Parts: sequence; structure tokens; C-alpha cells
Amino acid sequence: MSKERYLVMDVALCHDCNNCYMACTDEHADNDWSPYTKPMPIHGHRWMDILRRERGQNDRIDVAFLPKPCMQCENAPCAEAGDFVRRREDGIVMFGIQGGKDKDVTKSCPYGSVWWNVQEQVSQKCDFCAHLLDDGWDMPRCVHSCPTGALRFYTEEPAAFAGRVEAEGLSAYKAEYGTKPHVYYKNLYRFTKNFVSGSVLKDGDCAKGVTVTIAGAGITAEQVTDAFGEYKFDGLGDGEYAIFAEGREIARAQVAGASLDIGDCAL
Ligand code: SF4
Ligand code: SF4
Repeated sequence: MSKERYLVMDVALCHDCNNCYMACTDEHADNDWSPYTKPMPIHGHRWMDILRRERGQNDRIDVAFLPKPCMQCENAPCAEAGDFVRRREDGIVMFGIQGGKDKDVTKSCPYGSVWWNVQEQVSQKCDFCAHLLDDGWDMPRCVHSCPTGALRFYTEEPAAFAGRVEAEGLSAYKAEYGTKPHVYYKNLYRFTKNFVSGSVLKDGDCAKGVTVTIAGAGITAEQVTDAFGEYKFDGLGDGEYAIFAEGREIARAQVAGASLDIGDCAL
């Protein structure tokens, strides 16, 4: 079995510095890499886009960033747009320079990862810097530029990568699309799931070291409050949850697409 290309992104390590976006633009804007791809416009395209999601309420909030290139799908919906779409043996989905000469091609991608180049009158997208890989590079420019190690690139057999997915708990973004992407995420829950937070008070003061339990929607989890009496249960799906402290129910939370801060609860 031949080796294929895979990109792994760690949502917990992405700080939205946009180095990956800038490296991508530096590589492609005004550079004609025919027959791989025509020059990217200097403005308007984000072949490596960074999505942002804020969560929480009150002063218990956080923000997560999700770098989003073309997912190099095995079952690529964009392939329906025409014969110009070609999947290489190494798994990279190529548009080339001849195809995609119809603006509607941008609508063929469920991830919104195809861009229309007005100047060249052609649709374009990330191709893992295929021209560099074929020239001996072992990673695309975006991965090379990331200062936090949020991006990792692998060239390995599908069975080996499947093992990595299992061992590291990686997941596909919007897996429900069923496209079998070659881009996977670590800590995706930071972007797609929610948390319930709060604090426990005892005699009017922060209650450190109190065991707090959350139960609901098929899960039960336990934490010990920190020095500020605070707890935060993350990675939750929608549903109703009960929160207990020292065995007594202190609150109920209805999670429906957003994180919740319960606030202070006195024991
Ligand atoms: Fe995130 Fe790395 Fe891109 Fe910066 S370079 S935005 S840390 S993925
Ligand atoms: Fe095609 Fe979009 Fe999948 Fe990329 S992410 S292969 S453009 S369907």
C-alpha cells in the first residue's frame, strides 16, 4: 500500500497568529506554480482560513481557533463539479490550472474551502503545497511556519494514520458530511462542544478542594474545585445536566448549543 498525505491540527495549540495563512499567501500570491496552480490573488483568498469561536458567560469565557484548509476529501463533493478535479495517489485533491473555470464550483465544497480567482477566472484551493512536496519538501509552508506546533504533517500508509487517529483521539471536522477528509483535529471539542462552569462557596468564601460531579446526557464526570472554588466540565454535548457538590445537587444546566456558567453556589 502506498503512502498518503495527512495534516493534523491541534485546536488547543492554535493562537490565531495567522503565520500559516501568511506563509500560504507568500507561497502562492503572484507565484505561478503551473501546472499545479495559477497565482493566488494578493487579497481576498484564505486557502488556510482560521475560524474563531468564543464560549462561556460572565468572566468564565474562552476562545478557540480552528485552522481550516481544503480537507483533501477521499469522497470529495467538489469532484462532482467536473473532470478537472483529480485525486492523486498520495491523497491530494488537485484542481489544476485548466479546471474550475466556473464560479459555481465554489459552492461545491461543503467546507467553503474553494475560492474564486477573478483575475485568472479559475477556482482555487489549498493543495498541501503539492509543488513543494514533489520537489522534496516534507511538509507544506503552513506547517513549516507554525510557531506553536499546532500543525503536523504526515506521509504514511493509511493503516498507520488510522492507528494515529485512534491513539491520539483525533477527529474530523464536520464528520457528518461523510467526505473522509485527510485533515484531522486534536482537541476539536474546544471548537465544537461546550462547557459548564461555576464556583462553590462555603461560609461565604471560595471552597477549594470540593468534589463536584456532573451527570446527564449519558455521561458522569468528577472534578475537584481549584483555589478559587471553581470547576469547569468541558466537551459536553447538548442535554440536561445535574451538578452535585459533596453529594448534594447544587444546580441544573440545560446545554443547547452554548456553554453555560452556573455562577456561585453555596454549600
Ligand atoms: Fe494557529 Fe499555527 Fe496557524 Fe498560528 S500558524 S494561526 S498557531 S495554526
Ligand atoms: Fe473538495 Fe472541499 Fe473536500 Fe477540498 S474540502 S476536497 S475542496 S470538497
